[in-house]
Amino acid sequence: MYDVAVIGAGIIGTFIARELSRYDLNIVLIEKDTDIGNGTTKANSAIVHAGYDAEPGTLKAKLNFLGNPMFDRVCEELDVPFERIGSLAVATNEEEMKNIQRLYERGLKNGTPDIKILSREEVREKEEGISEEVIGALYAPTAGIVSPFELAVALAENAGDNGVEIKLESKVTNIQRVENGYCISMGEEILEAKYVINCAGVYAGEINEMVATKSFEIYPRRGQYNILDKSAGNIVSHVIFQAPTKLGKGVLVTPTVHGNLLVGPDAEDIDDRENTATTIERIEYIRRVSKKITSKIHFGTTITSFSGLRARPSTGDFIIEESKEAKGFINVGGIESPGLSAAPAIADYTIDILKEIGGGLKKKEGFIASRKPVLRFMELNDGEKAELIKKDGRYGRVICRCENITEGEIVDIINRNAGARTVDAVKRRARPGMGRCQGGFCGPRVMEILARELEKDIKEIVKDSSDSYILTGETKQNKLA
Ligand SMILES: Cc1cc2nc3c(=O)[nH]c(=O)nc-3n(C[C@H](O)[C@H](O)[C@H](O)COP(=O)(O)OP(=O)(O)OC[C@H]3O[C@@H](n4cnc5c(N)ncnc54)[C@H](O)[C@@H]3O)c2cc1C
Repeated sequence: MYDVAVIGAGIIGTFIARELSRYDLNIVLIEKDTDIGNGTTKANSAIVHAGYDAEPGTLKAKLNFLGNPMFDRVCEELDVPFERIGSLAVATNEEEMKNIQRLYERGLKNGTPDIKILSREEVREKEEGISEEVIGALYAPTAGIVSPFELAVALAENAGDNGVEIKLESKVTNIQRVENGYCISMGEEILEAKYVINCAGVYAGEINEMVATKSFEIYPRRGQYNILDKSAGNIVSHVIFQAPTKLGKGVLVTPTVHGNLLVGPDAEDIDDRENTATTIERIEYIRRVSKKITSKIHFGTTITSFSGLRARPSTGDFIIEESKEAKGFINVGGIESPGLSAAPAIADYTIDILKEIGGGLKKKEGFIASRKPVLRFMELNDGEKAELIKKDGRYGRVICRCENITEGEIVDIINRNAGARTVDAVKRRARPGMGRCQGGFCGPRVMEILARELEKDIKEIVKDSSDSYILTGETKQNKLA
């Protein structure tokens, strides 16, 4: 019997699993998809919010405030890109300026550090390319940008290094109470755990209802984005939000940690929890509205569009508590924005609940805080590159020409704990396929490497989900030398 089963390997489940692995516990992390972070965690704005937006007194406000400063350390320990570039929420008329003032006051109540209202001129000093219409802004220097899926993968890898068992492609289909805990079914496979932590994102309500009557609902709300190539990455240097209106937070423009430009999201309530399609109408809307921030974006450099589903809770706030009907079963649901920013603090808050209901937890000796650094070949100097190629010739073979990713880097991220198993999993970790050609050149070569390293038939290599096959049969032999 496991001590703790964590259901869902998004940013919340992986953070909890990693932090729990500091303790003397037998832990299993269960995920229905082929990869870590494949739900909402892979498709959001990637912003570590400064914390002025949430209603004071809510868990969202409290955990955003606590979570934001925790990013520097964890991203350094796990070698994940994170930059504190600051944010601007801009206003284009007096009505919006009043909203900016309200945000500022809320930020003061939430304890958001160093926020400041900027005049028209002060905004331009920070952002040259800002629209002429902008008359002022709220500046929050502690806002940052991160790579959410790389962080989730790094947390899972580190949790694995510290003894957490990770089960991918294991959809929880039923949970039953047994003496001293729960019996969790994943189709045919079953396991038992004393405590269960439900981090199932948009499915958290369904998992809760396996053990208790309905106490909350999660409504999916889709947000769509455009991502532009690196030639657009320096159009802005801060995260730039529009002033919130009755219709919501609005579209933002931000650089990404990898030097691209991200524009979005919109907000659309939908019924289907799997519907992450993008639509031409919504993408056009995002492009149109982004002009309020800057007119300098040329959408011809768009490399792709994507969408993510917010897990909007019926309660209006994060739901982080032991189920009233099921002892030892903790719900961590309704983790919509600022869930990523709050994630480190959500993990601590959840573990405190577990400590309380379990009568304390014992720290284990030998916890490994760091993971093996990720070698990014193109960031090395010429001497270091030559040295590395001498040691391992695979670093001399460029597989992705757009992002300059070598075979050595791809092999490394496949062979780690929680390593890549699919073409998209390789893309998210090492970036082949993230460039302009979107995998047109490197895709087949990545498949060959995956097949070789995982000792699989190349026809078994899928794009992302287990049924997203790419090849159906051979036409000719073309093995990587
Ligand atoms: C458009 C958009 C923009 C956002 N922008 C930001 C932002 O800039 N900053 C910020 O702080 N937050 C942002 N958020 C919110 C943030 O993305 C989420 O709070 C966070 O990703 C939630 O993580 P999670 O682990 O709870 O959910 P998920 O990442 O969805 O993880 C849940 C996991 O549970 C798994 N699962 C579900 N059912 C089962 C089952 N039966 N068995 C096994 N596994 C199961 C899923 O496959 C999934 O991997 C945004 C969200 C959206 C949609």
